[in-house]
Amino acid sequence: MNLILDEKESSDLMPVLFVGHGSPMNALEKNVYTKNWKKIAGEIQKPKAMLCISAHWLTKGSFITAVDNPLTIHDFGGFPDELFKVEYPAKGSLDLAKDAQKLFPKDLLHLDFEWGLDHGTWSVLNQMYPLADAPTLQLSIDYSQPASYHFQLAQYLQSLRKRGVLIIGSGNMVHNLGMVAWDKINEENYGFDWAIEANEMFKKHILDRNFEPLFDYAKLGKSMQLSIPTPDHFYPLIYSLGLVKEKEELTIFNDYTMAGSLSMTSLKIG
Ligand code: ZN
Repeated sequence: MNLILDEKESSDLMPVLFVGHGSPMNALEKNVYTKNWKKIAGEIQKPKAMLCISAHWLTKGSFITAVDNPLTIHDFGGFPDELFKVEYPAKGSLDLAKDAQKLFPKDLLHLDFEWGLDHGTWSVLNQMYPLADAPTLQLSIDYSQPASYHFQLAQYLQSLRKRGVLIIGSGNMVHNLGMVAWDKINEENYGFDWAIEANEMFKKHILDRNFEPLFDYAKLGKSMQLSIPTPDHFYPLIYSLGLVKEKEELTIFNDYTMAGSLSMTSLKIG
């Protein structure tokens, strides 16, 4: 498949996204978040391929999916049957995985032949690109490494943007499942004071391009500590920030808190 890696074909730099994915049910629902996902997809040039960094694939070492037909992984419990029936039938690309591997120092990125597309990827793409007609890959998160490492690692992916690859970090900035206000789950923009404070803090650091203090988020105070009890949903943001080039436009969208202890706040780069 020689569709992707001809740099001359596509001189425009693809944007990069960070998407707050929230509930897996967003794969099927029509709501303010999914409406904005579709809107963003309509605004950017059609990707030749997609590479997602999902909060739901944590590994020791870094891996990239290297299968031509990735499975749709239903990596959750307690949701309606219709969600388990969702298939996102995008192809993968062994060729693209191998080419991506070559962008990294030797032995840093490994090919993976088992993982497919988890809901961090398909719950968003099912709305953004329902035709599933672009090869879609995932990059895992080496969970043994700190934020600064992920920020550096992301930079090896930069040249893929010139080749029509849409890179998407999929997580949530404010993400504390243990404190979710289940009775407020359908109330729009309901956030605890600390979640609202953290959401503002995230946006300020991002829009000021002052990314480094976020690496040591625990030092930014109680609201950030509560927002990131574990960094799985935070690290995908760090990958997206690692790809920000000087003077690139940064646009916040889906700027909402929800269910008290979550935010859907998302970022378009470029
Ligand atoms: Zn998630």
